[in-house]
Amino acid sequence: MLKKAWHDPVWSKVIAVGLLTVFGFLASYMLNWWPGICGFFSWSISIIGEKSQVTNFVLLILAGMSIHSMIIVIGNLLRIIFPVKSDKPTWRDYIEDDFEGLHWRWRYIGGSIDEVNVFCPYCDFQIVPKHETIGLTIKETRMQCESCGRFHQIYDGSYEVLENKIIRLAHQKIRNGSWANILGNDPK
Ligand SMILES: [Zn+2]
Repeated sequence: MLKKAWHDPVWSKVIAVGLLTVFGFLASYMLNWWPGICGFFSWSISIIGEKSQVTNFVLLILAGMSIHSMIIVIGNLLRIIFPVKSDKPTWRDYIEDDFEGLHWRWRYIGGSIDEVNVFCPYCDFQIVPKHETIGLTIKETRMQCESCGRFHQIYDGSYEVLENKIIRLAHQKIRNGSWANILGNDPK
């Protein structure tokens, strides 16, 4: 679960900020900075109550500047934690396509294609590839739809080899930009 959270773009940032905070505390504790930090804070608190000789005009400018920078900092933090989703599709929206006469769906974990599944191009039922073996050697992979009964393909070799080829075909479309044409079509 922690691994999943780490791959999630939002949670990984939250975890990273949390870890940095903890390490920051520990490091400053070990370096014995706390007396200095505490001294600074108690000094800051003590001068808050004291009167100063600046005009209201200067105070107004300073207040305006601090509000402005606070808005920028808060805005940036919100953008990091809750990234704005644009309506324009990106390559990350490219999560299905037809290859080798079959329909494939996948998702992205980090930047890589993961959890690839294969579906019947006629009835969209998920196909479970079956290996035909001779002894311990995988001879071929059979693709048959258990819903409509159609027999699709026999591949020489294991399903892993085929899946690897599908991932590379999808990568190729991401690189050359043709993934955008797929999103324009009505997905099966
Ligand atoms: Zn089918």
